[in-house]
Amino acid sequence: MKNYPVRYSVFLSNPEAHLFEVHCSIEDPDPMGQKFSLPTWIPGSYLIREFAKHVVRIGALGNRRKLRMVKLDKNTWQVEPADGPVVVIMEVYAWDLSVRGAHFDTTHAFFNGPALFLQVHGHAETPVLVDIQPPKGTKYRNWRIATAMRRKGARPYGFGTYEAANYDELIDHPVEIGTFELATFKAAGVQHDVAVTGRHRGDLRRLVKDLKKLCETQIAFFGTPAPMDRYVFLITTVGDGYGGLEHRSSTALLCARNDLPQPNVVTASGGYRTLLGLASHEYFHTWNVKRIKPAAFTPYDLDRENYTTLLWAFEGFTSYYDDLLLVRAGLISHATYLDTLARNITSLLRLGGRKRQTIAESSFDAWIKYYRSDENTPNASVSYYLKGSLVALCLDLLIRAQTNGRKSLDHVMRGLWKRYGLTGIGVPEDGIEQVAEQITGLKLTRFFNQALHTTADLPLQKLLKTVGVEIRQRPARSGMDRRDQMSRKERQASRGVALGVRTGNDGGELKLSQVFTGSAAQKAGLAAGDIIIAIDGLRVTPDNVDAHLGRYRAGETIPVHAFRRDELLVLPVKLEAAKLDAWSLSVVGTSKETVRARKSWLGSA
Ligand SMILES: [Zn+2]
Repeated sequence: MKNYPVRYSVFLSNPEAHLFEVHCSIEDPDPMGQKFSLPTWIPGSYLIREFAKHVVRIGALGNRRKLRMVKLDKNTWQVEPADGPVVVIMEVYAWDLSVRGAHFDTTHAFFNGPALFLQVHGHAETPVLVDIQPPKGTKYRNWRIATAMRRKGARPYGFGTYEAANYDELIDHPVEIGTFELATFKAAGVQHDVAVTGRHRGDLRRLVKDLKKLCETQIAFFGTPAPMDRYVFLITTVGDGYGGLEHRSSTALLCARNDLPQPNVVTASGGYRTLLGLASHEYFHTWNVKRIKPAAFTPYDLDRENYTTLLWAFEGFTSYYDDLLLVRAGLISHATYLDTLARNITSLLRLGGRKRQTIAESSFDAWIKYYRSDENTPNASVSYYLKGSLVALCLDLLIRAQTNGRKSLDHVMRGLWKRYGLTGIGVPEDGIEQVAEQITGLKLTRFFNQALHTTADLPLQKLLKTVGVEIRQRPARSGMDRRDQMSRKERQASRGVALGVRTGNDGGELKLSQVFTGSAAQKAGLAAGDIIIAIDGLRVTPDNVDAHLGRYRAGETIPVHAFRRDELLVLPVKLEAAKLDAWSLSVVGTSKETVRARKSWLGSA
């Protein structure tokens, strides 16, 4: 073991208290006193999470004697100078059942490397060994391990020794330990594992069949061979939840157990479509962000925020292709795809924040805005996922139209893969634009400037027309304006008035969660957090508010009674007509050329 100067051991020591014990041994410590630190964030999730806050005990041993250890800042420790190997022993509390943290109880263990593995300063590039020990007790005898980390002595899915080429790789292989259900398949010759944790009655055979199609489509998209020698989907099912995090050879997904395909489903719809979309998204990241990376991430600085204006490409383009590749893989129909697209367009165009923030700014400020959303987010911010995916759509359709179908965004992605993915060179801040112009031979400066650096609306209508898709506007039928849930009489009486708010059901009370800029509610002085108890002197609840509002016409002023904290307010609200703020897409173009363009974009139906 001489060639592994840095070694880790993970002991599942105390499941009842949710404590991992982790040892980090360094053969040849810094003679000035070895420094260690834990990451403050996990790549892929742009928020300072402070993994060090879950360290409940830390100490160091050298030459069988306790060594003095000082804490230098929130996440860095230094051990006193020692003339032989040093072992740091750390206990970590793990009670975060998200895809970004660590979770450990008597039913399973899951961890991401940044939560458990100290970075040994000066050894970022040193190959490391990891020994994972089973919990003690017969009730754990069926536990096994799912991870994409390379085995070094451990049997397949077994406890024992694993290895990683460096620290960056070490923390990029999440580990699930327990009695998960396991299924496997091959895609383009690469073994894929699917490990499902949590009680469920889903049809894993169906899931595997669909994932195989999806993975083959994506590998073919970028070109063989696939960049990983194996891949692991770590899926945790819960009553209600949603989340995913990408890694170089695996992904951790959290989903509602009902999102797994139920026996005998024919088409992917509802929750299962959502799960496939999530899997598709994280899998696409295997190329786009895990290997084609912003220069700002090469290497990651795990002590602080890493700023890039490019998340519109890494998350936005990934969000565009996640659904598009589902349709090209034949997992959803053209109609379902267009419905999803219409929903995304509606979500973007309803946001006042799209007029306040560009997606370059939204990317840069992900750390303090996207990841820390609040009641004002829809008024002040735009999502680089959502707008980024529609920028990708526009760019794709623009390239297709201007090159008569000879080139597309697919070619640009493959160009990025060749130039940056295969070489490991980081993408400079203007790198996407450069490659797009080189690959297509088009002048795209105007498009990019407008899409990325202004808040002007995207030319969706014009570009969708090139593939024979029409975009239509209609009044909203959801939110506070659920006109479709009223009786016909109520609907006829309704002139479609709106307050311009998003509401929630707070224990049976009608609570405003967001108040949109310029809306009737905002003009009247209503605010997020207010509980509305009566409109025009009559009690309202989350269930009856739409029908209630439906009796009024735009222009009428009515009193609204609301509690702000414990103070009762009576505010006159001048009702406004509901905006035309829902969009739908339909196929209209049937000329030979349009049909060909549409098929080349979506794949044959
Ligand atoms: Zn993503």
